[in-house]
Amino acid sequence: MMNRREFIGSAAALAGTSWLAAAQTPGPAPAPGTKPKLTFYGSTQQVSGSCHILETSKGLFIVDCGLFYADLPNHDDENREFPFDPKEVKALFLTHAHVDHNGRLPLLYEKGFRGKIYTTDCSRDITEVMLLMSFGVAEGSGEVPLFSKEAIEKTLDQVEAVPYNAKLERHGLTFRFTDAGHMLGSAMVEIWVDGVKLLYSGDMGPDHSPILCKPTQHYGADVVLVESTYGPVARDNISYEDFGKRVQKVIAGGGSVLLPAFAVHKTQALVYILHKLMADGIVDRKVPIYSDSATAHKVTGIYNRYRDYHDPEARKFGELFYRHRYQEPRPDESLKSHGEEPAIYISTSGMLDHATAPKHLYLMANDPKNAVFLVGYQSPSSVGAKVQSGEKKIEIPWEERGPDGFRREMRETEIKLSVEKVSGFSSHARGQQILEWLAGFKSIGEVCVVHGEAEKAKGLAEAISKMGIKAVAPTRDYTVTPSGDRVKPGPVPRLAAPKQPQALDPVDK
Ligand SMILES: [Zn+2]
Repeated sequence: MMNRREFIGSAAALAGTSWLAAAQTPGPAPAPGTKPKLTFYGSTQQVSGSCHILETSKGLFIVDCGLFYADLPNHDDENREFPFDPKEVKALFLTHAHVDHNGRLPLLYEKGFRGKIYTTDCSRDITEVMLLMSFGVAEGSGEVPLFSKEAIEKTLDQVEAVPYNAKLERHGLTFRFTDAGHMLGSAMVEIWVDGVKLLYSGDMGPDHSPILCKPTQHYGADVVLVESTYGPVARDNISYEDFGKRVQKVIAGGGSVLLPAFAVHKTQALVYILHKLMADGIVDRKVPIYSDSATAHKVTGIYNRYRDYHDPEARKFGELFYRHRYQEPRPDESLKSHGEEPAIYISTSGMLDHATAPKHLYLMANDPKNAVFLVGYQSPSSVGAKVQSGEKKIEIPWEERGPDGFRREMRETEIKLSVEKVSGFSSHARGQQILEWLAGFKSIGEVCVVHGEAEKAKGLAEAISKMGIKAVAPTRDYTVTPSGDRVKPGPVPRLAAPKQPQALDPVDK
């Protein structure tokens, strides 16, 4: 991988006299009548740092502005620089509120971006929670935050919330947000400019996500961006009823259940599914459900406010979260409740590396009546992965927040509780679903496959090519100038199930 300076140099050289060169000296916009140019920057053959550059005769536009994750070399340097001049950006389109899509917006403000940020009202509200959380985590761990707290406020002031399904005209281009079914408020963005249409499908959800509507089917575009988190694999099998029966078995045996989960969407999906299972008589409705992450509490409140965006089934269900014995205690309160009665604990982090979930595990680990259900991806170095692989003696992190930031000690414990793996709570569509979605198009130009590790992105591009569609997995400096030529997609190839057990949700940290 290039270092930052090489990258900025190559991006500017690539762009010639275009807006990208503005990182050094501002250049002219493409002349009216010329086709727009897309340049790929973040989430190219890897998953994080989503940020796509669009040069048009109307100016420079950006889609998403996400964080590069720590698993990338030079991620800290990468996170602090842009290969374009933020002052020249006319407007930004934000697909959804995960930090790998919005985590650098305040830095963009600090570096001079003063344009509008278009996103849904729900994404704006969750973005506020996410940016404050990521600022707090950086501060607590003694890192130099990427941006100031004031910049978060300024960023939120830049947002113009837009409705789903309405064509809007701004800055000489037309755009429309439609539901991506990935988390509440998530969107695909269609942009019509300079005689062509581009479709950024963002992160696309599975078509069975609890609470969420299915991803919107589109029918035509000159360039389509699709994600490839899972790559070219078959759909997964889901049985919430089976999940419920396994939970109830633990409860009926006098044990408690731990569900380590990400605070955004996964927690809300679990609470809703558990309430549905209670309504169906599969899980005992007298069992308390504790959700003890402060971030999750805020996001659950937002999910509750935006009922219009829920899928028809959830709307029919009525109250999704605040029913039966659902409670939102502080972590110290929920930790104290162990031993009182069988309970269900939904707690962060999802990989048992931080926050309260490992403390629950520590308190529950010695009792074989208890169970931990791993509902999300466990990265190879995580505590969750050790638990999942069946290790019996594990060092569990115990964190306390003091005046000087986090204090962390490792506590060894023996794992006697039962360990269960659950699929069906992922937020990303598998390759087969993406192929079927593309097959729904009446005409399509080029497909660019982003937001996936190299092998997965290239594998999905290859599968798309088999449908007679031009498809690439762009590298960072790849550019596309839409030709305007389109084809009708051919038959969908049938993808195999992954050979290895599939990671469940590798990116939404
Ligand atoms: Zn996402």
